Amino acid sequence: MSNPGACVPDLLSDPQDHLTLGHVPTLEQLAETVAFAPQDGSIWLCGQRVMLMHSLALGALRRELTETIGLDKTRGLFTRLGWMAGARDAQLVSERWPEGDHAALFSAGPRLHSLQGLVKNEVVRFEFDNANQHFYAEFLWHNSIEDDSHIAAHGIGSESACWMQIGYASGYASTLLGRLIVYREVECRSTGHSQCRIIGKPAQQWPDVQGDLDHFNAEDFLNRSAYTGSDEPGDSEDARHMVGVSSAFTAACHMLRRVASTQATVLFTGESGVGKELFAHRLYTLGPRSKKPFIALNCATLPENLVESELFGVERGAFTGADRSRSGRFERADGGTLFLDEITTLSLASQGKLLRVLQEGEIERVGGSKLIPVDVRVVAATNLDLLEEVKAGRFREDLYYRLNVYPIHLPPLRERRDDIPLLMNHFLRRFCQRHGRTVSGFTSRLVNAFLAHPFAGNIRELQNLIERGVISAQDHELMDIHHLALGASNPLNEAIGLNAHGHLAMTPAPAVATVRPAKSEGEPPLRRLADFLRGEPVVLGSSLEELQRSLVDTAMQRSQGNYTVAAQMLGMTRAQLSYRVKGR
Ligand code: ZN
Repeated sequence: MSNPGACVPDLLSDPQDHLTLGHVPTLEQLAETVAFAPQDGSIWLCGQRVMLMHSLALGALRRELTETIGLDKTRGLFTRLGWMAGARDAQLVSERWPEGDHAALFSAGPRLHSLQGLVKNEVVRFEFDNANQHFYAEFLWHNSIEDDSHIAAHGIGSESACWMQIGYASGYASTLLGRLIVYREVECRSTGHSQCRIIGKPAQQWPDVQGDLDHFNAEDFLNRSAYTGSDEPGDSEDARHMVGVSSAFTAACHMLRRVASTQATVLFTGESGVGKELFAHRLYTLGPRSKKPFIALNCATLPENLVESELFGVERGAFTGADRSRSGRFERADGGTLFLDEITTLSLASQGKLLRVLQEGEIERVGGSKLIPVDVRVVAATNLDLLEEVKAGRFREDLYYRLNVYPIHLPPLRERRDDIPLLMNHFLRRFCQRHGRTVSGFTSRLVNAFLAHPFAGNIRELQNLIERGVISAQDHELMDIHHLALGASNPLNEAIGLNAHGHLAMTPAPAVATVRPAKSEGEPPLRRLADFLRGEPVVLGSSLEELQRSLVDTAMQRSQGNYTVAAQMLGMTRAQLSYRVKGR
């Protein structure tokens, strides 16, 4: 059975193995995916939000659950908890390192597990041959946190206790390989052994595997580890673009599915760039009118005098230039759906006419006298607080109540950060395809910077940054922060991550500096100056002349060497600047 060709001996046992083996991702690369964003109250690991938890609290939770719902149910619960984490890690690792082969990606699971502080892994045997469906893994686990808490609460007993870890190992391997791999703990510290020994095999090779599967609830969880934001039947264009797993996004999708099958008016609210039109279109494709037209109008793009003729149509001779009659969007959407974006930009008069259509189901063309019946489902969207607009007298209260039947709030990206890595990958694929590029992925530094970025422009901003990166990066290169910089100004700040010694630190050497080492010399004195002005206890350590030179250098970088622009930034004449640059 052994397959030396596919075997990866001791790959996981030596934390320094990345020095000798080139397998990606190395422990160091995985550690780089840890980012702390205390200003935001988040910690990120491999692009997903995690938290630090006291082992004492974990022990108390296990004990309380065991006492209330019994050992078996508690075990199942923790096994599934571990499965979800393992399945998600496998998904993220294989997306982050698309170039990694199965065996190398597999080794990232135990490494992540160690990085997360659960256990130290030692490989006893690992055989893997995907072509022949062969899989056998045997590990020793040392220092398991679950054993520590279990033994502290219950002492040594007859039951193994590394439930979450068994779930994690099984979920990770199963998701990565796309078939069910079951791990069992054949020896455990909680049953008196000096360490835990675990064995992983394909499910069908275990006797009495049903007991394990009951703990995994495997089928259910296998399905849930699938990674698309929308679980709708059919793979329509907008379903593929609706990407996310965060609770905020999933809640909005859930509301969308609830209301789609009805005829109700839906109001989407949320900041610019959160994807309101995409949601509106998705509502339409899921609804009963999906075979009829979907007509969209952004009310803000039309001047006031054109809005009404655009919405309701116009009769010949209604005004100068109306040389023929034509239908409006309501008539064209008849039987289907009309999406009105930025609804608050309508004048009060247009709002009144819209309200009448919604109430009567009839329109009157501009300059016409005939009432035309229309059957339209109206979906509206706004990035303002509509109730505030009502209070300020800018929006009709009766129309507000007419539209606000079923409001769906779309969260800004900063409230669904879990989705950022997914969206990054989604847009990377899309823009590589569109521009004929093969950018191979992202550096961890870039992912961490995205996770900490405020994203005032929401998904649109993220999308633009990725497109810019796809254009700037070389083929087969990883996209990094400097690919997104225009000139010397960088749209992203770096996050706090783990350095090589496992301590928190800003990732050193901003990428811009590595690209233009000569020009970036001016940065540190100015950064110190900024800290100094903010009142931080720093020593300036630069002469005024040096600071002046740094300012000049920075302005020259930002203007990309354009003297006129740089001089404007500094408030001096072009000649003065030229003198300072050349005269040194
Ligand atoms: Zn154990």
